[in-house]
Amino acid sequence: MKFQMLKKKNKEIVVGSNNEGKIKEIKDLLPKYYIITSPKDYGLKSPKENGDTFLKNSLIKAKYYSKKTNKICIADDSGLEIELLNNQPGIYSARWGGKRGDFNLAISKIYKKLSKEDKNWKSKKIKARFICALTIYGLKKNPVQSLGIINGRISKKKIGDKGFGYDPIFIPDNKRLTFGQMSQELKFKNDHRAQAFKKIKKFL
Ligand code: IMP
Repeated sequence: MKFQMLKKKNKEIVVGSNNEGKIKEIKDLLPKYYIITSPKDYGLKSPKENGDTFLKNSLIKAKYYSKKTNKICIADDSGLEIELLNNQPGIYSARWGGKRGDFNLAISKIYKKLSKEDKNWKSKKIKARFICALTIYGLKKNPVQSLGIINGRISKKKIGDKGFGYDPIFIPDNKRLTFGQMSQELKFKNDHRAQAFKKIKKFL
């Protein structure tokens, strides 16, 4: 046991993302014996995400960064699916924020589309879910993948200044607060990323 701990100590893992919000969340989930780096530390830009699923895109990222750095990499591909919008923005969640990743823009796009679809949407429950696919690449068992999902609804207005991305408009089931209003501890406890992580943490 002791030997295993020693072997694992000071091992590097690259968190395969250029999104600060995600890097922070994944960092908090990882065992403390890892030295955590990100593509920025290697001057690496994101690869083209041309997969048609969250799982495929997370594999593209994990494989790319692992091969470029020669290190173990954990990459996430995630997004928000809204039922009334045929599960949009889905894998395009980041891209709806435009080149600058402006989430105010992405959120107003969602509100505009919801009003176009149903002008009374604010009086209804607009079902949505956050999905997170994780891939770890560079281990002996290669690759390792998992999926986490959290169901909820879209808030009638943007509330809260915590978190990142679509957090201010997502209220998880059985809660009254948006992710944007929640403390990190509360959000991270059971969100899509934490759920996906629980399934593969034994490989780290
Ligand atoms: P990706 O880097 O292509 O996986 O982009 C995922 C996008 O989905 C992010 O940029 C956010 O817009 C959104 N997203 C994923 N997870 C979360 C979350 O936990 N909170 C808020 N937005 C999220």
